[in-house]
Amino acid sequence: MSPQAPQGELTAPLRQAWLARLDTTSAEAFALLDALAADTPDSLARHFYAVLMDDSRANRFLDHEQVRHRLQPALQRWLQQVLCARSGHVDALLQQQNVIGDVHARVGIPVDLVLRGMRVIKLALVDAAVQRATSPALAHEAIATLLCSIGIAQEGMTLAYSRSRERSARADAAYRLFSLIQNISAERERQRALLLDWENQLLYALAGPAGLASVEPLAGAEFGLWFVHKGIPSFGQSSETDHTLELIAQIDQLLARQQTGNALPPLPCLEQIRQRLAQIHHLQGMLFERIGQLDSGSDTLTNLLNRRFLPTVLRREIELGNSNNSSFAVLLIDLDHFKQINDNHGHETGDRALQQVAATLSQYTRGSDYLFRYGGEEFVAVVVGVNEGQACAIAENLRKLIANQPLQLPDGTGLPLSASIGVAAFDGHPDYERLMARADAAMYQAKHAGRNQVVLSQA
Ligand code: GH3
Ligand code: MG
Ligand code: MG
Repeated sequence: MSPQAPQGELTAPLRQAWLARLDTTSAEAFALLDALAADTPDSLARHFYAVLMDDSRANRFLDHEQVRHRLQPALQRWLQQVLCARSGHVDALLQQQNVIGDVHARVGIPVDLVLRGMRVIKLALVDAAVQRATSPALAHEAIATLLCSIGIAQEGMTLAYSRSRERSARADAAYRLFSLIQNISAERERQRALLLDWENQLLYALAGPAGLASVEPLAGAEFGLWFVHKGIPSFGQSSETDHTLELIAQIDQLLARQQTGNALPPLPCLEQIRQRLAQIHHLQGMLFERIGQLDSGSDTLTNLLNRRFLPTVLRREIELGNSNNSSFAVLLIDLDHFKQINDNHGHETGDRALQQVAATLSQYTRGSDYLFRYGGEEFVAVVVGVNEGQACAIAENLRKLIANQPLQLPDGTGLPLSASIGVAAFDGHPDYERLMARADAAMYQAKHAGRNQVVLSQA
């Protein structure tokens, strides 16, 4: 997956402007910038860090030791590369800003903090350039190039940052909607019952003194409200949802007219309303059917969560972990020699094995934990409210349960299953990809050590 492809179009103007500036920069100005790069970045990086630490928002992601140790040298390298930029480096540099922007977005570093640190750095560099330059004209030229290089690098970074934030905002929204309507068949029954309730009100009203005019409009009834606020966002707008809204409006008009002089007599009116209600029932059936088939968030084979929601869940858990000092862990569970099961017993048997393991995981984890189908025969459990030791005990328990329950084959024999599990407990690091990488490395250690075992990542 190359992040450059869609980004390329957006960075083209940056690339062009950077190249144009570098093409007109003289050898003397480059020499001056190289000299600045050789001297100053060390103290500047420290300064940048100090400025950031002055802001309480920075603590959340700078507190972690690893971040602290890496940030300064990384920033120093970055400054050196940007100051020494030549036209041959521009593409690689822009690509690098893309990666940095993505990391900032994952970790949630506020853009204004980065800009603040940069402001301090730029001012210091301008001073240093003026001091070193042998003439004002040279100082001017070198400063223009350095401001251009740093500015463009920052723009590239910010571009990636906002694109990444938009993507995660969309995923978060999709996850919310998905959780909203997760139990599709229960929701379907509930809405059907609400619509029937409303229909019954019509019959009671007809028998009462105020007649049909006393019935609340369908748009304001629980079904109508649900349909507009949750139904349409969950189903996605379509001709069926438009048609449903139209029918609701027609029904409410028929009712409203009951209060006027030229209304239909009650029984034909009731008949007209019931015809429309029948159509709404039918359309609801179609809409629910469709999202039931859609892979709308859960994996269709195992019923576990789709991995696209993993970042949403991990970002939230990291936030919770940092704000109330709670802990959680990630278990990466990879079935052993699964290819052999497919090869020897067929894909369908493989699928049954995946379902069995998924069922075991669901049964023996808590409702507050999250289970994902992470890949073909890989699962991820996000286990909340546990420390490292508890996470390992849970993983060990799951490993045993999987290994002790062979898959029943049609001939009555049992096919042994086992899994290698990598465990990584949250250690305060703000980047969820690092947590996943640790779980992944631990899982591979478990494979290399002979499979069917649990390995804890030592942070
Ligand atoms: P290891 O112990 O090293 O994990 O070996 P492995 O065979 O489990 O790992 P490998 O990654 O080589 O093979 C994974 C296999 O899982 C290959 C692929 O055909 C199979 N697989 C992936 N998704 C599905 C699925 O949905 N259904 C079935 N039946 N098999 C799947
Ligand atoms: Mg695998
Ligand atoms: Mg495997």
